[in-house]
Amino acid sequence: MSNALKVRTIAKKGIYGSLQANETAESNSAQQRSDAAAQALKTQKGDLYDQVIQTDPRGITIPGADPLQSELSSSSIPSATVGVVNLYYSDPNILPISGFGYLIPKSIPFSQNPEMALGVVFDSDAVRGQDTVPGTKLTVMLGGHWWRDFGDLNPSEEECLRMAKSVVRRHLGIKDDPTASKATIQKQSIPQYPVHYRRNFLNRDHNHLVNKYYGRLKVAGAFFNGVGVNDCIRGGIEVAQSALSPNWRDKTGLEVISNAPAFAKLARVRSSQNQK
Ligand SMILES: Cc1cc2nc3c(=O)[nH]c(=O)nc-3n(C[C@H](O)[C@H](O)[C@H](O)COP(=O)(O)OP(=O)(O)OC[C@H]3O[C@@H](n4cnc5c(N)ncnc54)[C@H](O)[C@@H]3O)c2cc1C
Repeated sequence: MSNALKVRTIAKKGIYGSLQANETAESNSAQQRSDAAAQALKTQKGDLYDQVIQTDPRGITIPGADPLQSELSSSSIPSATVGVVNLYYSDPNILPISGFGYLIPKSIPFSQNPEMALGVVFDSDAVRGQDTVPGTKLTVMLGGHWWRDFGDLNPSEEECLRMAKSVVRRHLGIKDDPTASKATIQKQSIPQYPVHYRRNFLNRDHNHLVNKYYGRLKVAGAFFNGVGVNDCIRGGIEVAQSALSPNWRDKTGLEVISNAPAFAKLARVRSSQNQK
C-alpha cells in the first residue's frame, strides 16, 4: 500500500485515526529521508555509515567512500594562511624576558615588520614540563593577513625559517642558530568569519544538513564553533554527545547556533552630513 493511500485509509477513522495517520506518514517519510541520506554517505563497497562528522566545510574524504565535495555555504568564507616556525635552543636562558610571548599589532607597518610576523610564543615558558631535555622553545608565526593576496605564492618553509630567525634576532637579541627547527605552512588554517556569519552562513548550513542528511552528516571545528582550541574541543564533545542522543536526527552541530538569539543588531547610521 502506498503511503498516501495508507494515510487516506486511516484518516477516514476520525480524529484519533488522522493523528495516527500523520504519525505513520511522518515516520515513513522520516525513514525514507534517513535511508536516502545514508546512501549519500555510502562506501564504495556498499557499507553504510550511521553518522559522519565533518571538520572542514570545504570537503571531506570519508574512508572507502567518494570524496564529499563542498556543499556548505561556510566553505566560501576566506581563511588565513600562517607560516609556523618552531625553534629549539639548548640554552634554557636565551630569552631576555619570560612570559607567554607576544603578538604584533596590525598597526605596525611593513617597514618595521619586514618579515610579516604575527607574533612569537615562548613555548618553554608557556607550557612547562613537557620535555625531557632543558632548553628554550619558541614558535614564530608569520603571514596571516599579510599574505592575504599572495595566493599560492606565499614564502617557502626555508624562507619562513630565515625570517623567523631574523625576527628573534631583532626583537629578542637571539643571535645563535637554533639546535633544531621546523617550519610548516598551515594553508588556509584560520577561518575569517564575515559579519552576520551565523545568520547568513551557519543557519543556512544547518538547514541544508537537516534537509539533505537528516542528522547523518554533522559538523564541528574552527569553521563552526569558534577558532580557539577550547571552542573546537567543546564543539567536538557536543557533537559527539548529540550523535548518541535519541534525537540525533535533528542535530547537525549547528542547532545551538541556529537557535541562538542575536547578540546585537547592526544598522546603517547616516553621517551627520547626510542628515542635514
Ligand atoms: C598558527 C596557529 C596558531 C594558533 N594558536 C592558537 C592558540 O594559541 N590558541 C587557540 O586557542 N587557538 C589557536 N589556533 C587556532 C586553533 O589551533 C585551530 O582553530 C584549531 O586547532 C582547529 O581545530 P579543528 O578541529 O577545526 O581543525 P584541525 O585540528 O585542523 O582538524 C581538522 C581535521 O580534518 C582533517 N581533514 C582535513 N581535510 C579533510 C578531508 N578532506 N577529509 C577528511 N579529513 C580532513 C585534518 O586532517 C584534521 O585532522 C591557532 C591556529 C594556528 C594555525
